[in-house]
Amino acid sequence: MTRAHLAGSDHPGGPHTFAGGDLDRSASLRSDPKRISELLEAGSSRFLPFRGLDPLVETEARPGLGWIPRIELENLVDVDSAALFLGLEPDGARFAIPVPETVRDDDLGPAAASFRGVREVAPLLTVPDASVLALGRSLTAWHAMHRYCSKCGAPAATDEAGHARRCTNGACDTVQFPRTDPVVIMLIHREGLCLRGRAIRARRYPPGLHSCLAGYVEPGESIEEAVRRETWEEAGLRVGRVRYHSSQPWPFPSTLMIGCFAEALPGEPRIDSSELESVRWFTMMELREAVERWDEAGALRVPPPLTIAHQLARAWLAEHSG
Ligand SMILES: [Zn+2]
Repeated sequence: MTRAHLAGSDHPGGPHTFAGGDLDRSASLRSDPKRISELLEAGSSRFLPFRGLDPLVETEARPGLGWIPRIELENLVDVDSAALFLGLEPDGARFAIPVPETVRDDDLGPAAASFRGVREVAPLLTVPDASVLALGRSLTAWHAMHRYCSKCGAPAATDEAGHARRCTNGACDTVQFPRTDPVVIMLIHREGLCLRGRAIRARRYPPGLHSCLAGYVEPGESIEEAVRRETWEEAGLRVGRVRYHSSQPWPFPSTLMIGCFAEALPGEPRIDSSELESVRWFTMMELREAVERWDEAGALRVPPPLTIAHQLARAWLAEHSG
């Protein structure tokens, strides 16, 4: 598959933020330690430092990822054991690398660089940069949270150039791989109306913000079943046809948002007060206004364009505007 194919968009409106990258992940190199060592030493290789889960970002003019050469890291971290291989760009290899919390903004990179939160910086990045950032953040978070073997509890060490962790107890030798957690997020509709909810956990969000219902897919469950179960649990509505729309990597820390349209069967919503503080039908006109004025204080709002919740609303309006 060519890079152009990889960068293509599978749905109108373009790729969601964090999707649509064109990095060649070169997965076959992960099990080639000799080649990875050569890439770690190569002058053309670049490293993206993460302090905690915040990447180094160049802040001059348009923000971009703060890729730096190995030489800038050598006094701060053991590059060979800490670097996580992300893939190959035409001009060289790319690695993510966790750095100690004590590293200051001006210890690394150009003068105008600082460690910034991913939510804050992602909307300002190019499509490929946001995508590689999602990979780097999720991988970094996974290593930080899986220091020990999940089977025997012995320390686990980085393996497969950062795409696995192997138990250091030779008798156990269990290998773990980075996990991705599937979440269904659904725009529920019926007869030109769209159901939006306001989650209890959204109390710190702007007043009036209503989003799609969403929830984790449980073990032994299909995407369609998860959509129906979550809609019933949270809003007391039965759902008929479920149609997949698109998906979005969501690196907080490592979720895959699976966007669906779901047709509600007759009945009125009743809320589960432990999950939602309000749920209501929006007319198309109300939804259009909420989408266009997502960043204005007002009665009804939707989450920002960064989110698949916003993009599902746009897509549904586009489908129904003709
Ligand atoms: Zn073990």
